[in-house]
Amino acid sequence: METTLPSADELAGKARETAKRCGVNVDALGDGRTTTSPINGGRLAAVDWVDAGAVDDAVTRARQAFLAWRTVPAPVRGALVKRLGELLTEHKRELATLISLEVGKITSEALGEVQEMIDVCDFAVGLSRQLYGRTISSERPGHRLMETWHPLGVVGVISAFNFPAAVWSWNTAIALVCGDPVVWKPSELAPLTALACAALLDRAAAEQDAPAYLSQVLIGGPEVGEALVDHPGVALVSATGSTRMGRAVGPRVAARFGRSLLELGGNNAAVVCPSADLDLATRGIVFSAAGTAGQRCTTMRRVIAHVDVVDALVERLAGAYSRLPVGDPTAAGTLVGPLINGRAHAAMRDALDAAVRQGGSLVAGGGRRFEDQAPDAFYTEPALLRMREQSEVVREETFAPILYVLPYQSLTEAIALNNAVPQGLSSSIFTRDQAEAEVFVSAEGSDCGIVNVNIGTSGAEIGGAFGGEKETGGGRESGSDAWRGYMRRATNTINYSGRLPLAQGVEFDV
Ligand code: NAD
Repeated sequence: METTLPSADELAGKARETAKRCGVNVDALGDGRTTTSPINGGRLAAVDWVDAGAVDDAVTRARQAFLAWRTVPAPVRGALVKRLGELLTEHKRELATLISLEVGKITSEALGEVQEMIDVCDFAVGLSRQLYGRTISSERPGHRLMETWHPLGVVGVISAFNFPAAVWSWNTAIALVCGDPVVWKPSELAPLTALACAALLDRAAAEQDAPAYLSQVLIGGPEVGEALVDHPGVALVSATGSTRMGRAVGPRVAARFGRSLLELGGNNAAVVCPSADLDLATRGIVFSAAGTAGQRCTTMRRVIAHVDVVDALVERLAGAYSRLPVGDPTAAGTLVGPLINGRAHAAMRDALDAAVRQGGSLVAGGGRRFEDQAPDAFYTEPALLRMREQSEVVREETFAPILYVLPYQSLTEAIALNNAVPQGLSSSIFTRDQAEAEVFVSAEGSDCGIVNVNIGTSGAEIGGAFGGEKETGGGRESGSDAWRGYMRRATNTINYSGRLPLAQGVEFDV
């Protein structure tokens, strides 16, 4: 596909105009750190950063907001999130544009990210009337045992570049209905998107007469995240990013007995069985492996294909890879946008070299595009490799579009390969054999937090709890009962008997 990438001035103008329409005070952005667009590697804006010293003030203000917000009835708190959902709907295209400009998502996926934000607002509004506790049979006559769920406190959200807005909304929509204010440290690579989200929530809060400082955003580097992690006033740290980051964050929060919710790296596989519909599998695999230029935590990085179908599958995948339109993510027809930066591209090159050293062979892709036109933008053809075994590089998460194909002989072996990586986020099986599918989703099957049948590993809906095991961090956010992580549970025993029988038959007469 012939592509002329937009100029830096064009993108910077568009970013400024779009941020303004979302309510960002663009004249007050400052002249601090330059933020660039992966679309052409050029300057997008300059935004002032705060330093770690700003965290204490922000948490103190959030704590004040908490004291008021926790007494507001949950369905009334839901009205704020409802309004946020309406504003996100109104500004869907603008927010999606900022996401494309700052992190290089193709338009459809950027719109999908905002739709996910709207969906989680809907979910949270319903939830605001369903924060149920249980009533439990007491062993004592004239007693009632029950649990109540209360707001937890300030939630610190740390988010990654690749879902620069949705991760905030998964946490914030749920936290707000649960009665918790949020202090957000977004990715330093997407400050305008963060400021736009914050502006929309500020507007909703003002319209709903919500307390000030329910939502604050701190634009800054990892040291701001660290200060949030260490602050004793932050009841829950919800951190999304690399396993390296989570390894630093988890123990620090635990050391002060805080609560953490970690959403870290993935290394997701699809098992393709002999009975699989190979055309369907090919489509599912290519979307999961090459979509978002391989920069989703749920990106498919491994295919484990039965020896009887592996050749036919690789042929189909190679065909699809050769037709993938790589280019300007804002242009119609593009399916693969740029990598976020040169560091990501270098990591991809290193992984491809290592894979070949470790016995792999490159089947398709891997080349760089548009280097002459935009030397600071990093477009790459998604790479497809065949591997003889699950070598070291295959067990790592390289945050780029690299798909390793491995052969297997028995389903037991395929499941063992699926599980033999440090990460445990998402997995899938393509099969028309129900028994194989059932084994894969059973206790002896995939050990991941997301286990799919006949679809790829990415593209989760917000209704389910999202997250994974092992080095993915164990956290769950978004749907199902993930809200419980944002509240504290109290167990209440109510005695209406007029006597004082003790549990376990203990006698203690005074
Ligand atoms: P990253 O770890 O470099 O940064 C993530 C965030 O953490 C940023 O805001 C960064 O400033 C902050 N940070 C970094 N070090 C920190 C520290 N020591 N203390 C506190 N904060 C710190 O990740 P990234 O490159 O932005 O994102 C890509 C990674 O995120 C991939 O590994 C991907 O799999 C993962 N991810 C996971 C999920 C999930 O839900 N499991 C979702 C999206 C991305």
